[in-house]
Amino acid sequence: MSLIKKIGMGTSLLRAKVTGRRFPFMINWAITGRCNLRCKHCYGAYGDLQREELPADIIFRTIDQLQEMGTRRITIEGGEPLVRRDIVDIIDYINSKGMEISLCTNGILLDKYISRIYRKVDLIVLSLDGRQEYNDWLRGKGTFTKTLHAMETAAGYNVRTLVFATIIDNNINDIEYLAELIKKYRANITYNIAVAKLDAAGRNALNKVDDEQYRNVVKRIIKLKQNGYPVYYSDKNYRQALHWPDFKKECYLPAEISALSASRRKYLIPCFAGRRFAFIEANGDVYPCYQTVGTLAVKNIKTDGIRASFNHLQTLNYCQACYNLTLAELNLQADLDMGSVFKVIKNYFWPG
Ligand code: SF4
Repeated sequence: MSLIKKIGMGTSLLRAKVTGRRFPFMINWAITGRCNLRCKHCYGAYGDLQREELPADIIFRTIDQLQEMGTRRITIEGGEPLVRRDIVDIIDYINSKGMEISLCTNGILLDKYISRIYRKVDLIVLSLDGRQEYNDWLRGKGTFTKTLHAMETAAGYNVRTLVFATIIDNNINDIEYLAELIKKYRANITYNIAVAKLDAAGRNALNKVDDEQYRNVVKRIIKLKQNGYPVYYSDKNYRQALHWPDFKKECYLPAEISALSASRRKYLIPCFAGRRFAFIEANGDVYPCYQTVGTLAVKNIKTDGIRASFNHLQTLNYCQACYNLTLAELNLQADLDMGSVFKVIKNYFWPG
C-alpha cells in the first residue's frame, strides 16, 4: 500500500467528517462461515455452525459496488478466509480496486498462499491467546507453534502483523508474557477483553468477570503501553474501557446514553458503525458491526445488494457506544481521531 493511497484514505475520511456523508469507508467481511479450527471462545461459533458462504460472482459484484460507494479498506475474515479456494482471486480483485486489505487468519494455511498474496495484503492479523499450554487448550493442539510460524512467514515476506489476544479469566496471567513474545517478532498486539471465563465445556460455561477485574486488566495493558511494548490501540480507547460505567452492559442504546450523567458520558467513544463502516456476515447479511450479528432485522447483499443493505442500517435502532476494544478503535479511526490515526501511521512506518 503506497503512502499516496494512505493519504487518499485520510482525505476521504476528512471529507466525510466535514460533510457528514454516510458511506462504508471500511468493511469487515466474514468471507466464509467455514473454519479449520474449533476454538472454544469463538464469538461466531464458526467452527461448529459451518455457515454458508457467498459465491465468487456475488462477492466480485459487491466489491465493484463498494468501490463506487467509496470503500477504502476491506478486512477479510471468517470463519477462516484461507479455506476458500478462490481466496487469491478475491484478494487480487480487491487489490485491483485500489483498496487496502487486512487479512484475519489463524495462519495455518498461510504458507500455502503467502507467495501469491504478500504484495496485496497490507496487514495480517493472527490470533494468539497465551502460553502454549493455554493457547492450545483453547484453540487446538499445535496452534501455538503454527501461529508463531505464521508470524515468521509474514515477517519473511515483509507483511506487517498484528496479533489479537482474547483475554478471558483463564489467561489473565499471560498478558505480559504475550507482550514480551510479540515484541521479539516486531509485530503489534491488541488485547480483546472478553470478560468471560471458560471451562472444559467451552462457550457454554461463560461467566462474566466483575468490573474490578476488567479495570485491573485494562490498567495492566496501559502499563505495558507506557513501558514501550508494542500494544496497539490508542489511549482514548483504553480510557473509555477504564471508565466504562458497568461491564455487565456491553453497549448502550442512544436513549440509554442520554440517561447517563455527563460524567459517565464523558469518556464514551461515539459509534460510526453503519455510518462509516459495516460488517458483512458469511451469508451476505449486512450489520453495523460483528457484535450486532443476529440482533437486528437486516438486509442481505444477495437479495438487496450492498447499497440498499448499507442504507437500511440508518433506519435501525442499535447501540451507539461499546467497550469492545476492537470496535472502539474502529470507531476512533472512522472519526479520524488523531491518537488513533497516529497509531496507524506509526505502524505503517515503524511496525513493532
Ligand atoms: S456501539 Fe459498538 S457494538 Fe454497538 S453498533 Fe457501534 S460498534 Fe457495534
